[in-house]
Amino acid sequence: MPIYKAPVDEMLFLLQDVFRFDRYNNLRGFADVSAEALEAILRQIARLAEEVLQPLNRIGDLEGCRREPDGRVATPKGFKEAYRQYAGGGWVGLSAPVEFGGQGLPETLTMIVNEFVVSANMAFGMYSGLSQGAIAMLIAHGTPVQKATYLPRLIAGEWTATMNLTEPHCGTDLGLLRTKAVPQPDGSYQITGTKIFISAGEHDLTENIVHLVLARIEGAPSGTKGLSLFLVPKLLPQSDGTPGAHNNAVCGSIEHKMGIHGNATCVMNYEGASGRLVGEANRGLQAMFTMMNVARLYVGVQGLAQSELAYQNAALYAKDRLQGRAISGIKFPGRAADPIIVHPDIRRVLMSIKAFNEAARALVIWTALKEDVRHRSPDEKEHQAADDHLGLLTPVIKGVLTDQGFANTVAAQQVFGGHGYIAETGIEQIVRDARVAMIYEGANGIQALDLVGRKLGKDGGRAAIAFLKEVQSYLNERADSDTLNPYLRPLGQTLAHLQQASMWFMQNAVGKADNAGAGANDYMHMFGLVAMGYMWCRMVEAAQAKLARGENTEHCRAKLVTGRFFMERILPETAAQLARIEAGADSVMELPAEAF
Ligand SMILES: Cc1cc2nc3c(=O)[nH]c(=O)nc-3n(C[C@H](O)[C@H](O)[C@H](O)COP(=O)(O)OP(=O)(O)OC[C@H]3O[C@@H](n4cnc5c(N)ncnc54)[C@H](O)[C@@H]3O)c2cc1C
Repeated sequence: MPIYKAPVDEMLFLLQDVFRFDRYNNLRGFADVSAEALEAILRQIARLAEEVLQPLNRIGDLEGCRREPDGRVATPKGFKEAYRQYAGGGWVGLSAPVEFGGQGLPETLTMIVNEFVVSANMAFGMYSGLSQGAIAMLIAHGTPVQKATYLPRLIAGEWTATMNLTEPHCGTDLGLLRTKAVPQPDGSYQITGTKIFISAGEHDLTENIVHLVLARIEGAPSGTKGLSLFLVPKLLPQSDGTPGAHNNAVCGSIEHKMGIHGNATCVMNYEGASGRLVGEANRGLQAMFTMMNVARLYVGVQGLAQSELAYQNAALYAKDRLQGRAISGIKFPGRAADPIIVHPDIRRVLMSIKAFNEAARALVIWTALKEDVRHRSPDEKEHQAADDHLGLLTPVIKGVLTDQGFANTVAAQQVFGGHGYIAETGIEQIVRDARVAMIYEGANGIQALDLVGRKLGKDGGRAAIAFLKEVQSYLNERADSDTLNPYLRPLGQTLAHLQQASMWFMQNAVGKADNAGAGANDYMHMFGLVAMGYMWCRMVEAAQAKLARGENTEHCRAKLVTGRFFMERILPETAAQLARIEAGADSVMELPAEAF
């Protein structure tokens, strides 16, 4: 059965040595977290993830969720008790505003909690995971009454939230959406329509569920400009906020799916359900984007978290499984064979995943800190720079971490040979669970188009220019460092590829949009590699400084080797990506549809 050990020490290294958490003490909530408190918080959630949530992961997969004839849904055995512990521990509202019952701690801590929880049990994590986006959305767009009614309950984890966009005929293209909203004399709306694939649409973990539903008010324009966002609770709150009568929002069925069986993916039927408008009419997509952007980062973390889980189990197996002898000579003469960790090909796989995970985690933490700056800095310039960073990096984190995260779970499965294909070892569940993260919250092809088509040129390219400038300045400032040079040089080459690719789009995609569409996926991955290469340089620099002080040598030495591996064996991929981008769209688009 799979094991999981939350990477607490790795997180502490990132927070304290690489990003210097204490530098952010001017921001609300940071000064409350001393070094001791930080470690205590991480160890506490690590224990919950390892001891409570992870043992339920297999049970959830085998048992799945069960829908009763009346539409109620039962979650797998143990989920309810675990949820009680999780919500009771205050983890849902860890970073939420104190005025609504949250703890007001940095968002960065929530991002760390998310990784641990998702590694331990991805299906479980999604029940409250969606509440994070709903909380952010309500803070930004809710009325005072909506905030007072919903925020304290969502933050306490007493209620959970869902996001309802997808309909049978409409997924990516939300302009086709048909769910209807009819205004009522009391200011509410009657919502009618069918939503599919709704994560955590119905369950028995909380007394109430708050559905955030995109719908079109009668007579509103067609397309996305006619969409509005509605709060549609499962149980209608009474005047004191406590849940009252049942709304006409019912789970029609649960989807049978490839993975995350422990999470109920529901068809939701709204038949004249009572809803309240959130934000302005016809600007529902803008409000929903507040929720979606939080969810996209969460999904990116899912990719990393499953990659980490797969890595830990593959590494353990590789040290245990005896097959063949090392090609450089027998390493364990006392045993019938050497463990497969001696084989370079197995190490190639493990090192690739390890090098990716550590950089991806740094990228997530760096971005989470920007999220804190965005929400908590009083400085307008800092706030804008952080907002730019998040806009630019969100599609990269979502797309790259989930594409490569899934690929890593498959690579880890290979380490198990045939034992990885049968259910007993549990690695195949990780592969199945990880797959969906590439699909939902905007399929990854759409993330790549978002990056190239929207984010790159936004505000005259301000965000992209700032990112490229930051990496270039980092390289320039350290150009004389002999110890860092082996890491800086490959990053410099890769940065040049990214600059060349950006230029190529400017010159070749403006008049020929297919060139952007055909190269977008490679560009997104190239962007991810440059960002992770930059993260590696910063981690190596921090590790070298610690080594110079004689601290923590084993962990730091491993950092230098893993960073070198990333530079030598993963970063060179940007050359191939550049070649594909510059090949343009011709061979992609030439064949007529009938030829396929
Ligand atoms: C387990 C699970 C849970 C989910 N949870 C939720 C949820 O909680 N709430 C919710 O609302 N939805 C949810 N979804 C739905 C999910 O977000 C959609 O499946 C996803 O957005 C893609 O939509 P689609 O399936 O209709 O695919 P389509 O939109 O039909 O896309 C099919 C393919 O075409 C590509 N494509 C489409 N349009 C374009 C274009 N213009 N340019 C280039 N490529 C394009 C896509 O990238 C994709 O690869 C969930 C899905 C699953 C499987």
